[in-house]
Amino acid sequence: MEDAGANWIHVDVMDGHFVPNITLGPQIVEVIRKATRLTVDVHLMIETPERYIADFASAGAEYISVHQEACPHLHAVVQDIRRQNVKPSVALNPATPLVMVEPILSDLDMLLIMSVNPGFGGQQFIEASLEKLRAARRLKQQHGLSFLIEVDGGVKAHNCGTVAAAGAEVFVIGTGIFATADYRATIAEIRRIVDGQADAAA
Ligand code: ZN
Repeated sequence: MEDAGANWIHVDVMDGHFVPNITLGPQIVEVIRKATRLTVDVHLMIETPERYIADFASAGAEYISVHQEACPHLHAVVQDIRRQNVKPSVALNPATPLVMVEPILSDLDMLLIMSVNPGFGGQQFIEASLEKLRAARRLKQQHGLSFLIEVDGGVKAHNCGTVAAAGAEVFVIGTGIFATADYRATIAEIRRIVDGQADAAA
């Protein structure tokens, strides 16, 4: 991915409880950290993520996303992530409205809008996510905030322009790259489309 031109490595951590699937833990993140110079962005799709923040921080995560749905004390978890010198991010499932994080947006370095239900790769982009992306951008602009808007799920070359136009700034892309023959060409095409949207907005 580094050779193919990716900016970040996004790591999906799943625990078999918050989502049905099980993937990997902090030991693998540590190995990924050593294997790349790219930003390591860890997305915790796990219950009680507060129990594991220190482990993923010491494994080398630069961003940690926790799910709003998994954190009754979300503000405290976000503060804990920042105390570990990691950039805090909150992820919202498709059914969770933006208002659930509005009071703490100024505490975040990133907001992760899930555009599929978390748990498996290869799903279709949920179109209603576009309105949530637009709403997130409006809030960001209204309040002069600096959090990045990340989108995760079903993004591919054919829809990345629409997703960028709606406000996404960080694009998590799995199948949209890995199911293509030439990763470098795919990333270059996506970058050209997304950058075109950014120019149009400016
Ligand atoms: Zn993810």
